[in-house]
Amino acid sequence: MLRSFPFSLVSLVTLALWPNFASAQGPPFAVGTASAAPGQKATGYLEVPAGVDGGTSIPVAVVNGAKPGPVLALVTGAHGTEYASIIAVEKLIVELDPTKISGTIILIPLVNIASFEQETPHVNPVDNKSMNRFYPGKSDGTQTDRASFLITKQVVDRSDYLIDYHGGDLDESLRPYAYWGPTGKESQDRISKEMVLAFGLDHIIIWGDRPTDIAASRYLDNTASLRGKPAIVVEAGHAGTVETDDVALLVNGTLSTMRALKMLPGEPHYIENPVWLDKVVDVISDGSGIWYSLVKRGTYVQEGMKLGYVTDFFGKVIVEPHAPAAGVVLHVNAVPSLKKGDNIANLGVVASKVPR
Ligand SMILES: [Zn+2]
Repeated sequence: MLRSFPFSLVSLVTLALWPNFASAQGPPFAVGTASAAPGQKATGYLEVPAGVDGGTSIPVAVVNGAKPGPVLALVTGAHGTEYASIIAVEKLIVELDPTKISGTIILIPLVNIASFEQETPHVNPVDNKSMNRFYPGKSDGTQTDRASFLITKQVVDRSDYLIDYHGGDLDESLRPYAYWGPTGKESQDRISKEMVLAFGLDHIIIWGDRPTDIAASRYLDNTASLRGKPAIVVEAGHAGTVETDDVALLVNGTLSTMRALKMLPGEPHYIENPVWLDKVVDVISDGSGIWYSLVKRGTYVQEGMKLGYVTDFFGKVIVEPHAPAAGVVLHVNAVPSLKKGDNIANLGVVASKVPR
């Protein structure tokens, strides 16, 4: 007992001093090659080594706040042609001021470099996989698996909260919306709901029925959720465009969410009465040809309403898809190209009850 007493005293003194020490000159926070001391910002890369196919370098920025606090991850560009979401996170890298932040922000502005460079929608052209379907990834798979593995270890496991950004891809005319995936854990769900309301997008999908196997979590936000970290998905932008309004929704939504998490000073702006959607219905094409849309993103449709038509290359109508349910057009095919089995539209069905 006597021997341990002086040691305990030293530990207590160290603990008592720790908060001041951390805010003044704490250790740097490093992700990949980006290492930022408190009060600083750094950029670098997550190096995905070559394996059965080529390696890739995923850009990463760390904004290490001058004051201690939680770690928030902002990840975008899993689909490298959902441009508005990529530009929004890039703007945040430039604009976030570490001297005003409590905690640390990890920003990944572009997961899928090959998709961006080659203008390939939906997938990583290196292995033809969607980069938001193979989490938590594995170290010995194809490039998408290996990148997902590294993001799980270096970003998800090091974070307390996560936001995954998407939008309409090159062929998708999309209205902005968010996903909230309740887990059944009260405190986690309360925080993720606060995050999604603070983000402020006015249509929110309640995403139930998701994978519960931590080793096969599939989606990035679900990977965070299953590890006990509140996470949301946000979508804005459409069909290759970078509209100021879409980028502003994503940038301002992020700042408001950071305020709700007490990582930035100021009051968050919560959306008061969003439209809650509890089901998303895929409309799939029964034929190949030229797509003519009769609805726009954001249109509300009644069940049975004609959404558009598909002609062959001589102008003869071959398919007339109808709405399988009443709801809002979350996105609709933005281009004439359509193959049998392609997604024509996603309809969000309005929830009968507002979640409590
Ligand atoms: Zn996406």
